[in-house]
Amino acid sequence: MRAGERMARVPEYVTAEMNRRIAAARAAGEDLISLGIGDPDLPPDLRIRARLAEEVQRDDAARYPTNTGLPELREAVAAHYAARFGVEVDPQTEVLPLLGAKEGIAHLALAVLDPGTVSLITDPSYPVYAGGPLVAGAASHPLPLTPANGFLPDLDRVPAEIAERARLAVCGYPNNPTGAIADAAFFDRLGAFADAHDLLACHDHAYAEIAYDVVQAPSALASPAFRANGIEILSLSKSFSIPGWRIAFAVGHAPAIALLARLKTQIDAGMFIALQRTATWMLTCDDLEGPPVGVYRARRDAACAALAAIGMPVDPPPGGMYLWVPIPTGETSLAFAERVFDEAGVIVTPGTAYGEAGEGFARMALTIPEERIAEAVQRIGAIL
Ligand SMILES: *Cc1c(COP(=O)(O)O)cnc(C)c1O
Repeated sequence: MRAGERMARVPEYVTAEMNRRIAAARAAGEDLISLGIGDPDLPPDLRIRARLAEEVQRDDAARYPTNTGLPELREAVAAHYAARFGVEVDPQTEVLPLLGAKEGIAHLALAVLDPGTVSLITDPSYPVYAGGPLVAGAASHPLPLTPANGFLPDLDRVPAEIAERARLAVCGYPNNPTGAIADAAFFDRLGAFADAHDLLACHDHAYAEIAYDVVQAPSALASPAFRANGIEILSLSKSFSIPGWRIAFAVGHAPAIALLARLKTQIDAGMFIALQRTATWMLTCDDLEGPPVGVYRARRDAACAALAAIGMPVDPPPGGMYLWVPIPTGETSLAFAERVFDEAGVIVTPGTAYGEAGEGFARMALTIPEERIAEAVQRIGAIL
């Protein structure tokens, strides 16, 4: 066979090579500690699982769903936006079920970008922000996130020639990997920028419910300027510890929702009906447990204290499930991650896996028990 030309541009997923080495070390019986996994380790609420089991039993659950989803699901999403974020959306035209945020963000790039056009993406960023444009044959332009800018992109620095070709701008707060939270003023600026340059803004709200020091991380749609020029992707993966279930929604700007829906009818056949009904119930049930924020907070605090003690201080992030840790040794991110793996049996993700601006950082996930995090940090301390 011959691969499509587009595949020459598409690299293996960032974690592929590391995953092979990890598998080999595990097979050899090494006691590895992984701070590399962005996957909630605590199982979902038993009631959610029981509900899905019930829904699977219904005779019509196995039928083909529709791409636009059940009306009651779209209404539940709209009700959730009103209750949780104070945002009114039209369930008919402004809500679309997705088979996960990753799917939605990748396909959004395909729906909006052509060769020669540009997507503005944060750097570092969740890999699909760059992967979507890559598959679409378009370019992405990195907007550096640094401690100095509070991990918020400086839109005034986008060159005029790039802004001219930009059709999409993607970011997400609480941020993966930096843990930063954006305020309403940032979403106003992003919305105004999108308006001025006739592009679509996309806010990935994967960590909507994982914030430590504020009551609620804001929805970008609460900003009128963003609301008029953008969509938000709300995933249930991290909020309910159900990443494998593949439930997310695109919410906002009706023309973008319609465009994405039209593309998706050519590609997938909608979300499993039992999942749609379970999600409807989850979003309208007012006594379900959210994500284990208290557990993540305790891990965050323990990890920050342990890191400070070995000379790797990091500010406790206000949200998300990760620490974005400056590497104190002057090694590259990759060299540090490889040495920590080889000499300490600890897996951290090199910052450059998320973009060039990640050089000098390592991402550590708070997805293992506190004692294991502490042991991992101690092992790192021993080889510094
Ligand atoms: C985990 C994660 C996602 C994945 O969401 P799915 O709905 O599971 O595809 C999206 N964005 C960010 C930033 C994430 O960290």
